[in-house]
Amino acid sequence: MACKVAVIGAGPGGYTAAIRAAQLGAEVTVIEGDTIGGTCLNWGCIPSKVMKTTAELLDKLQRSQEFGIRVNGSIAPDMEGLMARKQTVVQHQIKGLLNLFEQHKIQYIRGFGTIRAMNLCTVRLADGNTMEVPWDRLILAPGSAYAEIPSLPFDGARILSSNDVLGLRDIPRSLLIVGGGVIGCEFAFIFACLGSKVTVVEAMPRVLPLPSVDEDCSKVIQREMKKRKIELLVNRTVDSVEESEGRCLVTLGPSPFTKDPQEFDKKPMVIVADKILVSIGRKPNTSGTGIETVGVKTDEEGWMTVDREMRTNVPQIYAIGDALGPSRPMLAYVASAEGLVAAENAVGGEHEITYDAIPGVVFTIPEVANVGLTEAQARNQGYNERSATVLFRSLGKPHVIGEIAGEAKVVFDAGSGRILGIHLVGPHASDLIAEGTLA
Ligand code: FAD
Repeated sequence: MACKVAVIGAGPGGYTAAIRAAQLGAEVTVIEGDTIGGTCLNWGCIPSKVMKTTAELLDKLQRSQEFGIRVNGSIAPDMEGLMARKQTVVQHQIKGLLNLFEQHKIQYIRGFGTIRAMNLCTVRLADGNTMEVPWDRLILAPGSAYAEIPSLPFDGARILSSNDVLGLRDIPRSLLIVGGGVIGCEFAFIFACLGSKVTVVEAMPRVLPLPSVDEDCSKVIQREMKKRKIELLVNRTVDSVEESEGRCLVTLGPSPFTKDPQEFDKKPMVIVADKILVSIGRKPNTSGTGIETVGVKTDEEGWMTVDREMRTNVPQIYAIGDALGPSRPMLAYVASAEGLVAAENAVGGEHEITYDAIPGVVFTIPEVANVGLTEAQARNQGYNERSATVLFRSLGKPHVIGEIAGEAKVVFDAGSGRILGIHLVGPHASDLIAEGTLA
């Protein structure tokens, strides 16, 4: 008899695992409480990149004269058109995924899944009924959700999550972005290009303060923010927010997360903004999944823990994707790679995941991309590290396409010459990093 594999969550982790398990002969059921495609397709990668595409095109069109194009009439963003295009792209992909499920004879159930006991899930359907799904192997791919700051509760109108911002009908005149991480920085450039006055507040001393992002890449992004009149306030956090005449008055204080704030950073400050986007990180989507019923372990923050075979502490249960938390890259293609490993192992394989050469990409304008170690990481790991940097402005192509900001840095081991890491900030960094990854 075929192995029964159930998958909770149909994001890039869950749908990839489901298709692979079906290809390997399993009888697969996928349970999804929202929409097939998960965060990536509905609330993340795809809609935000549709917005970035429009923002970049608008930016280029506004520089049309530089490229020898005369535009008769004005050029302006059209949010209605942008949102309609976003919907078309998302719906197209949803249709594609549903077709793939059908082709692979995957049973797809729309409803909220809960582990009831070993080998059994129940699903609460939209009409209030429940359904039982028996399984031999379970793959948990419930993803993550946006985190909230208690002093800035989301209201969907003025204080927005990343989900809310993807459905805006109008371009805010001014937008305060709390959190200068990946999502915050991406939206900062998008809305600056669309015409908002953008301010970014970041608790750490630099934007993109991730261990994988080279400090020089952050510096270039900060310089580009300045050129686009994006105001950046580092070493700050939000103390409180009040509403006045339909606008938000936000009081900022010194960040408790910074070691050596400058005098300027310590002074309280009030920012007035029409809307606030809070993008301070993600939290695990495990509540209600019933993992405690069967004793699936999590860390103190609730992220599930797995071994290199993507197996939780319960041998028949695997976990993948964002729900494993920030100790691994929280990216769509990482979730998919983990999904492949989990699916293969669920049907009897012995595969291990490796994270050594996974590229990271930030879709700012210009983009940031990296693979491997930063200089600091290489040093900490005991390498006699060296680096070489090339500025995009010293090459021909960036001048041809009119995008000269950025640099490429190669980190290598001085003794062996082995490449340890590649860090790009510049046009098409997200495409170029693929070669760095192969290297
Ligand atoms: P998800 O995609 O979150 O899917 C989990 C699914 O499980 C959800 O649909 C949820 O409804 C469902 N679910 C949860 N619990 C249950 C339950 N009990 N029963 C039934 N269903 C359940 N990554 C990139 O690689 N590139 C990008 O450009 C990029 N941009 C992003 C932009 C934004 C604004 C955001 C928020 C994220 C972005 N990401 C990007 C990250 C990417 O979206 C995630 O890494 C990816 O979606 C994780 O996939 P996943 O399958 O683990 O979880």
